[in-house]
Amino acid sequence: MNIEFLGTAGYHPGEMSHTSCAFIQDAAPDCGFVLDAGTGFFRLIGRPLPSQIKIFLTHAHLDHCFGLTFYLDFINFSPSPCELTIYGSRECLDAVLGIFDSPLFPVAYRGKSVVVEPGRDIDVHGVKVSVFPLTHPGGSHAYRFDWPQKSLAYVTDTIGDERYLEFIQNVDLLIHERNFANEMQDLAILSGHCTTDDVIRVAQSVRAKRIALTHFNPLEDAAILEEDKIHRVCPNAVFARDGLVLEF
Ligand SMILES: [Zn+2]
Ligand SMILES: [Zn+2]
Repeated sequence: MNIEFLGTAGYHPGEMSHTSCAFIQDAAPDCGFVLDAGTGFFRLIGRPLPSQIKIFLTHAHLDHCFGLTFYLDFINFSPSPCELTIYGSRECLDAVLGIFDSPLFPVAYRGKSVVVEPGRDIDVHGVKVSVFPLTHPGGSHAYRFDWPQKSLAYVTDTIGDERYLEFIQNVDLLIHERNFANEMQDLAILSGHCTTDDVIRVAQSVRAKRIALTHFNPLEDAAILEEDKIHRVCPNAVFARDGLVLEF
């Protein structure tokens, strides 16, 4: 199975990166999964897609849902009809679906929405989907997807505390945010994000086969990504970039 990173920036786009979005084209028969719909979501417009697209939102911050405002082109320029379902917590959906209300948007959302809750797993086309609350201003939720043979956890917008470590144990692929270099710790604490050392702590406690880091500060250049530091602890860690396709 492949996952494609469509947006790997946190907060705002950079020259080479859009905000949070990842895509699993063949998540289930004729069904694709989208993990967050930041501005990177535009990259799906006009592509041949499965007839069902399931969008899993971690929270309502705009770098995770702004791409939903590309809804009209997404629907009208898809080569074949495509049905959207948006998943999120009650608070997240209440906020995000308001994007489609006048005067913010000209057309009503005609897709479906489904509330997800911690402790209540759901089945999405044969995939077990569970969520866990993260520590982040306004809240965020980690997702775990369990296929019969594979598992993936998606954790973004979190301070990297211990609460969710059990939830993501032993996954085949852990996608985790790494918003800030260690020297930006004050801003990480203020905005509820991880530094390099926070990610290292998580990586050391979780037996993930592979880790892909994303949600980077778009103002950081390669020199302050601290890749060496993370690779020393976690040689398999991948620093995702827009357009990267990972097999898991
Ligand atoms: Zn974010
Ligand atoms: Zn956020």
